[in-house]
Order: sequence, then C-alpha cells, then structure tokens
Amino acid sequence: MRGAMGGPRLLLRRLREVMAEPVSAQARLDRIVIHIAANMVAEVCSVYVLRSDGNLELYATEGLNREAVHLTTMTTSEGLVGLIAEKAEPLALADAQAHPAFSYRPETGEEIYQSFLGVPILRGGNTLGVLVVQNRARRTYSEEEVEALQTTAMLLAEMIASGELQSLAQPGQSLSLQKPMALCGSPLSEGVGLGHVVLHEPRIVIKQLVAEDPQAETQRLDQAILAMREQIDQLIARGDRYGAGEHRDVLETVRMFANDRGWLRRLREALDSGLTAEAAVERVQNDARAKLQRQTDPYLRERLHDLDDLANRLLQQLTGQGVSHGGALPANAILVARNMGPAALLDYDRANLRGLVLEDGGPTSHVAIIARALGIPAIGEVPNITDLVETGDPIIVDGGSGEVQLRPPPDVEAAYGEKARLRARRQEQYHKLRDVPAVTRDGVHVGLHMNAGLLIDCHHVAEAGAQSVGLFRTELQFMVASSFPRLSEQYALYRKVIEAVGGRPVTFRTLDIGSDKVLPYMAKMEEENPALGWRAIRIGLDRPGLLRMQLRAMLRAGAGREMRIMFPMVATTAEFSQAKAVCEREVEFLRRHDYELPTDLKLGVMVEVPSLLWQLDEICACADFLSVGSNDLTQYLFAVDRDNKRVAARFDDLSPPSLRALKTIVDAGVRNKTPVTLCGEMGGKPLEAIALAAIGYRGLSMTPSAIGPVKAALLATDLAATRDFLTPLINHPDDRISVRHELHSFVERHGVPL
Ligand code: PEP
Ligand code: MG
Repeated sequence: MRGAMGGPRLLLRRLREVMAEPVSAQARLDRIVIHIAANMVAEVCSVYVLRSDGNLELYATEGLNREAVHLTTMTTSEGLVGLIAEKAEPLALADAQAHPAFSYRPETGEEIYQSFLGVPILRGGNTLGVLVVQNRARRTYSEEEVEALQTTAMLLAEMIASGELQSLAQPGQSLSLQKPMALCGSPLSEGVGLGHVVLHEPRIVIKQLVAEDPQAETQRLDQAILAMREQIDQLIARGDRYGAGEHRDVLETVRMFANDRGWLRRLREALDSGLTAEAAVERVQNDARAKLQRQTDPYLRERLHDLDDLANRLLQQLTGQGVSHGGALPANAILVARNMGPAALLDYDRANLRGLVLEDGGPTSHVAIIARALGIPAIGEVPNITDLVETGDPIIVDGGSGEVQLRPPPDVEAAYGEKARLRARRQEQYHKLRDVPAVTRDGVHVGLHMNAGLLIDCHHVAEAGAQSVGLFRTELQFMVASSFPRLSEQYALYRKVIEAVGGRPVTFRTLDIGSDKVLPYMAKMEEENPALGWRAIRIGLDRPGLLRMQLRAMLRAGAGREMRIMFPMVATTAEFSQAKAVCEREVEFLRRHDYELPTDLKLGVMVEVPSLLWQLDEICACADFLSVGSNDLTQYLFAVDRDNKRVAARFDDLSPPSLRALKTIVDAGVRNKTPVTLCGEMGGKPLEAIALAAIGYRGLSMTPSAIGPVKAALLATDLAATRDFLTPLINHPDDRISVRHELHSFVERHGVPL
C-alpha cells in the first residue's frame, strides 16, 4: 500500500512540473492523465471538457481508446460523466455498470472497467468539465482518493480558465467558459452600455496550488484565520458599518461561519491533500458554491453569499489581493459586483464607466439611486453573475429591459450596438433643443426642471436644458457618507450646488430618510410597515435638532439670493406649520448672529400623502409652492408598494383615479394662485408629461436625461386638442377603456414623438 498522504502530494508535485513544461496543450493534458492514472493506480484516467453547446467532449485519456479523443461527446444528461457535470458532485462506484445512468460508448472500449470515480472540474461553482479514473477490478475508492482527484481537478480548471484548452477545440466550437449567455435581472437605471467586465472585487488569483512545505501551510492558514476573526470582531465592535455598506447582521453571520467546525475540518482536509492554504480555501469554497448554487431556497442561497464573504476575507488575508480597487478603470468598463455601496460607485472614474451589473441590488438600493443619478445603465438581481464572468469578458447591459448579454455572439452585439447608436443620435437631436423653451404648438409654456442629488448633476443643468433644479434630494449626501454630515459639510455642499447651477433656482428638499432609505450609521428601526413609518418630515419634527441643522446649512448657503426649501411626506397642514416654525426660528437665529440671509425665502410642501388632497386650500394658504411627489402619491393612493415587482405594475398613473387626483391638486393651485409642479418619475415620461400638461401642470421636474424626450413631445403637442380628447376619458365611468392606450393612439396619430 502506498502512504495515505504521500500519494496526492507526490501527484500534485508531478503535475506542477508538467504545468511548467513548454509543451503543447494536448501534450500537457496527455501527460497529466498518465500521471494521475499512475498515481492513483488506475488503468484509466480521462478528461472531459464541457463545450458551450452543452456537450462534454473527451479531451484526453490514458487507458481508453486514444482514437476516441475529441470524437466522443455526450450531453450532460447522458451517462455517469453527464450526471457528475450536472450535479457538480463527485461520484464513486465500485460497480459502475450497475448504475442506472451508466451508458456504454463502444468507441472508447470502456466496457471492461468495473470501478469508476469521477469529479467535476469546477470554477466559481460552475462545471467546466469532468475528470474520471476507472479500474478494471471492482474496488471501493477511499475518501482520500476522492479528495485527491478533486484537488487535481482544480489544476485542470486553471488550465481551462487560462484559455489554454481553447486551442484544442474543434472549429466552430468553444468551451463552456466562453459560452454566450443572455441573463435577466431588474432594471435599475436606463441606457445601453457595451464594454468589458471589470470585477469590483477582483477574483483572487491563486499563484501556487501545490504546497512546498505542508507544515508551513498549516501555520499560514491558522494565522490567517486568527487575523480574519480579529478583523471581523473589530468591525463589529467599531459600529455596524464597514466600507461598502456592510451591516452588522452580515458580519455576525460571517463570524458564526468562521467558527464553524465543519468548515474548519474541510479546510484541514484540503490542506492534507497537499494544497497551499489559499488553494485549500478555494477548494472548500468551490464545493460549497457548487452545492448551494443549485439550491432554490433563497435562505440557503443567501448563506452562500456569507460563505463567499468569509472565503474572500480569508483569501485576502492569505494573499493580500482582492481589495476592491475603485478609481481608475480601463476604457468601456462594465462593473460587475455582488453588491456595492453608493460611495464605492462614486469612487470610480466615470469617464470610462459604461454600466453596472449587480447580483443583489434591488431598485431601491442606494447604489441604484446613485447609478440613476449618474446616468449609468445598471441592472440588479442577476443571479450568480460574479461567478459567470471573467475579467475582460465582453458584456452588454440594457438598463431599460434588464437584459445582460455576456460574451455576446456577433449578431447580438451588432443589434445592441445599433440600439446604442440610435440612442446617441436621438440624444444629439435633443441636444439641439437644449435652449429651446418647451412651448406646445398652441403656445403654452411648460417649465422643465431637473431632479438631482449629487453635486455632479448640477454642473449639467444647462447641458440638460433644465430651467432649474426642481428637486434636490439632500439625502444622497447622507447616504454616501460614513457618518452624519456635519453642518459645515452640509453647508459646503448646498453652497457648491447653488454655485454650480449659475443663477438658476434650486429647490432643496429636506432629508427624506426612513422607509427604504436607511442610513447605515443610524440605528435601524424595526417597523412593520416602514413605508408608513418613521420617515422624512416625521423624523425631522421628532428630532428637531437634525432638521434645524439642515435648515441652518441651507439658509446660510442661500445668503443673498432666493432660497427654495420643501418638506417631504407632509400629511397635515399642522406638520407643515411646525416645520415652517422651525425654519422661522432658524432665520431669527441667523439674523441675531448677523449672518446674511436669503433675499427671498420660499417654503413649499411635497404633495405625496393622499390626506393632503382634502386640505388643499388650507395648505395652499400657508405654502409658497406645492410639488407633487407622484412616486409616493401613487404608492399611497393605490396602496401599492412602489418597489414591489409583484404589484408595482398593477396600477396605472394614467388611469382616471390617478389623473383625477393629480388634477384636483393643480386646480387647487390655480384657484389659490399657489404654483404647483410635479417631481415624480411620471413627469419624465413623454406620454405622461403630455397628460399632465393637458390637465393643467405647467412645471415638471425630472431626471436630466428625460428632459430632451419630454421637450420634443411637448413641442409637437396641440395642448387644447389633447385636453379636449383627454377630459371625457378621465371622467368616463367605463373602466374598461384604457386612458393610456387611447391617449397613446391619439398622440401617435398627431405625429408626436414618444
Ligand atoms: C416622489 O415621491 O415622487 C418623489 C419625487 O420623491 P422620492 O422619489 O425621492 O420619494
Ligand atoms: Mg417621495
């Protein structure tokens, strides 16, 4: 009998020598299978590689008929090899022919072999191929042998991933690793981006798989585990946030896994088979991925993320690599990440950034808000994307539809290229309209303004063709910060915003946090219904210190000019009066301390809670202006969570109840001579914008990229005719008639570009 541990270690050493030899890919593979067969005392060793067409192809063999190499293929639902590829699990059989999945290939001459051991060749949990040994005699393969074969399979995975085996593929064939894939996720930010994958957390490259000195590797691993545990403990002790928005509960779970006996045992076993510490971590993680990725239970899949996190931390300790780089990017970069904090996205060089794809990241995630603010096409909730890509892979992101094309074939790439060019051409046309006011064909002017939340947006106000910043979401500064921005920081931002828009007005909105907008450094409230909970003005009034500080920063920033401030989520006139009183006290304070004040202060109310619809005259009497937050208003009007995919599409902004409510608000404004604008997403869609103008809105604030299309549509609209067409539809009692559909046809008949 050979020594239980000497075998695999010796084999790995041999294989490492083979890897270094300057021979062709086929010769290297041929030598590898000879060494494996000899070391494992098997008559047969074969390598099957998974092709992009889903077939497994015999790439090398010792023991089977050599003629069959590159000729024998099977699907993943065929035979024992197919089963291993599909399940991504090893299979050891003393009597292979008795297994129901056994299928016999006469050209290989394998009928005489009784025992069979096969393991998947895995990378990132994905199967790239299958490695098999066979014995003529009936024998039971030991645990160690299965381990050893799995370890050897890692070397083959490296060979496949390095592209070396691609040269052996038959013309027109490619390996599974290079297979084009069409994936789908949730659209986060519109636009089409073509480019190449850049991993936000670059995969750690393991330079040495085979241990020179096994004892030293054990020590390295022990030290790294200790250091990692200490790091996690410190992070937890320091507060609940680390870098890219990680939260305490995630860290707690990771800490729990770091102390898990099973995980530690598996690492030791991998070390014992002759791997370096980092290769052992990768081995164990690969197996966990292969198992958990095939789970449909969301809880278990979530645990995979925690385990990934753990393995990455450990690999970082061992190799010093893998810390997300931020900053510079190659040309046409598409960032791919499991998740990313908003600050991390802002760190990247925007000039080269063409898109963002996330494995987690729903539409309300902070990073999605930032991607939209930056105008970067982005998609979230794309399962396993970080495991499916390699750095540099060609990739296309369609942020409108949520489609990701990975390694696209030429025709797909051409189609998207055309789409991107068309968009660019349209943008050029909109650009020409930049300084043209949005006046309808019958002479009605509709003011178009832009929504912003970052200083960077405000530099583009003229470029976007916006008259003003109609909504400045101040919470973005709070969301990307690692602690509460101080008064001086808030002041500095508001001042810069005012300077950046060069004399155009800015409507600042006070902090709209709570609900989905959670600040990582603020204690998280456990609420049954966060959207109906402690948020926005409610926090402001309960914590007047916060609100006062923000108002003081705004009032000081607006010194010597007109200042517009509005309050979010106001539900009663009393709330607004209280907020106004806080503001007046701040004005008083600044006056007493000889600060220069704004020349004119306008205080407004966001109309986004339906209760205000029955206090419109009262609110108009005390507010200087109203701004309709249609995103939230629709949410509360229809009792539909605006970010819940299941229900979000159920109700239509262009339906009679919604349009009647919106008309009631604008009518009250006219009646009371209180200016009313609308700043929800609705205003940025051409058809909706036409409807809003037709029911009386004369000011719309939207994302900058929507201004061009909305302006082009309004310029072509005969507003009086549209109003005459729309009014009876809004008042029509038959709800089978779709206002959207009817209006769309009408507008199209009149040649309005949508
Ligand atoms: C709205 O609710 O329509 C709005 C503009 O505010 P936010 O989207 O920031 O809640
Ligand atoms: Mg809102």
